[in-house]
Amino acid sequence: MRTVVLSIAHEPHIQSFITHGPGRAYARRFVAGETLDDGIDAAVRLGQKGARISLDYLGESVSSFADAEAALAVYHTTIERLRRLDVPVSLSVKPSQFGVKLSPERCLALLAEVVADAATVPVGVRLDMEDSSCTDATLWLADQLRQRGLPVGVVLQAALYRTPADLETVLAVGGSVRLCKGAYAEPASIAYPRKADVDAAYERLLERLLVHAASTSAPNPSHLPWAAIATHDEKLIRRALDLIHRLNLRPDAYEFQMLFGVRRDLQEKLIDMGYPLRVYTPWGPSWYPYLSRRLAERPANLIFFVSSLLSESFAKRSNATSRAGVGSARR
Ligand SMILES: Cc1cc2nc3c(=O)[nH]c(=O)nc-3n(C[C@H](O)[C@H](O)[C@H](O)COP(=O)(O)OP(=O)(O)OC[C@H]3O[C@@H](n4cnc5c(N)ncnc54)[C@H](O)[C@@H]3O)c2cc1C
Repeated sequence: MRTVVLSIAHEPHIQSFITHGPGRAYARRFVAGETLDDGIDAAVRLGQKGARISLDYLGESVSSFADAEAALAVYHTTIERLRRLDVPVSLSVKPSQFGVKLSPERCLALLAEVVADAATVPVGVRLDMEDSSCTDATLWLADQLRQRGLPVGVVLQAALYRTPADLETVLAVGGSVRLCKGAYAEPASIAYPRKADVDAAYERLLERLLVHAASTSAPNPSHLPWAAIATHDEKLIRRALDLIHRLNLRPDAYEFQMLFGVRRDLQEKLIDMGYPLRVYTPWGPSWYPYLSRRLAERPANLIFFVSSLLSESFAKRSNATSRAGVGSARR
């Protein structure tokens, strides 16, 4: 299902229809807006409700370093705004937005600028994990930044068979880990094809991550917690809560993370219960690939989206027909 939806979504005419048409209104469910002000306003609103925020300036797979430098400028402006903001905000960054697919070395130089600037606030930076063609390069970037005294958090995807080994490597050097299931379509040769296996892998990795977080007393050097539990899966959240209590985990060692607009009820519930929760808050005009991943991971979203597209175009057509009818009656 995910593979089919993501490949249809890549079709240029589908993309153009959705981005220039009714998709924009639907995207607002998952995206704070298209401008930095929209992102900051959402961060302030979420902060007032007791959430932490991770701001993500949407954009990925740039085709030139001019685009990567433009993204860098936006991150500098964002960091400047965060200096004056009394809300617990961190940043999420996609390496492909900074040109990792073009030149990992040049990408590293640009990311180092973001992390160094963010450290002056201080604000933590996490490298999002993209499709498996970026996994090695992303972990390499994180390690290079750490060696330069600019530690960042990473993301590991339970769906990939390689993740238990990657987790050990990252924990051995003191990295902060966001654990997610994985949003990209991957072949069965490298990732679990069945959701039940991904969920089981997540549970095993979660336990390893939280046991490690409980064994450390110092804060993580990245200004982020040791463990970020990124899921809306209630069964896994209950499992995490059990472990948090059993391990007597310090509240600064971990946090729950959820996506903007997804399971707001659960977000509020965790905050009301006193658990740390960060909301991943994307903003920016390049929201289309992000929206396609949100549609692909949940059939109900897709059905709702397609039916609203159909009813909207049906309404437009019948309006046009009745206007034509009125016009001809007048003539
Ligand atoms: C903070 C955060 C950061 C992330 N960063 C990355 C990353 O860097 N790389 C990466 O590959 N993936 C990332 N993801 C996405 C992740 O990999 C999953 O694709 C996504 O979270 C759905 O999985 P789930 O764990 O919520 O569980 P699921 O079992 O898929 O969903 C559990 C329940 O959550 C709700 N839900 C889940 N997704 C949606 C949705 N799209 N719309 C509405 N309801 C939904 C539904 O109620 C569903 O029953 C991130 C997720 C979060 C929460």
